[in-house]
Amino acid sequence: MGCFRSTLRKQFPGYEDPSCLALETSFSVNEVEALFELYKSISSSVVNDGLINKEEFQLALFQNPNKDNLFANRIFELFDVKHKGVVDFGDFVRSLSVFHPNAPLEVKIDFSFKLYDLDGTGFIERNEVKLMLIALLCESELKLADETIEIILDNTFLEADIDQDGKIDKSEWDFLVTKNPSLIKILTLHDLK
Ligand code: CA
Ligand code: MN
Repeated sequence: MGCFRSTLRKQFPGYEDPSCLALETSFSVNEVEALFELYKSISSSVVNDGLINKEEFQLALFQNPNKDNLFANRIFELFDVKHKGVVDFGDFVRSLSVFHPNAPLEVKIDFSFKLYDLDGTGFIERNEVKLMLIALLCESELKLADETIEIILDNTFLEADIDQDGKIDKSEWDFLVTKNPSLIKILTLHDLK
């Protein structure tokens, strides 16, 4: 058996065989097949072209396609592995694999670093932590005074920014997450099993 089926590939550009994706990710073949059913419904929810666009992605993830959510935007960018503005089935399964309970911790830490490094500079800068903090507070409908947010940021950098250059690099992030695993708790979805 080859790694693609031509009929499905026509209907779903970039379609990959579940058994190949299962080998590459934390999913079993059955789980990949279940994800394909999910993929079919998401990718046809707005434009039935076999691909997931940003609107469909946000609709599926956050039930609201128009909400300009920092996390939603960045997660879509990270799922859009080939930077084509759409997510194909292979991208979808590989990216979701990061959220699998059995995915290696290192994979989750890498993904979380890219998630917080909004502009992709290779560093998490103070303004990025601030934007993420505000987005998180907003999601949980909490409101903190700006001074309180600045104090949280000061404390975060005091702990995280070991070389005190004002930004968090990958090794500082690895260390911080190892000490505070709750920082990446959102990157494990138990329903994926
Ligand atoms: Ca950055
Ligand atoms: Mn630093």
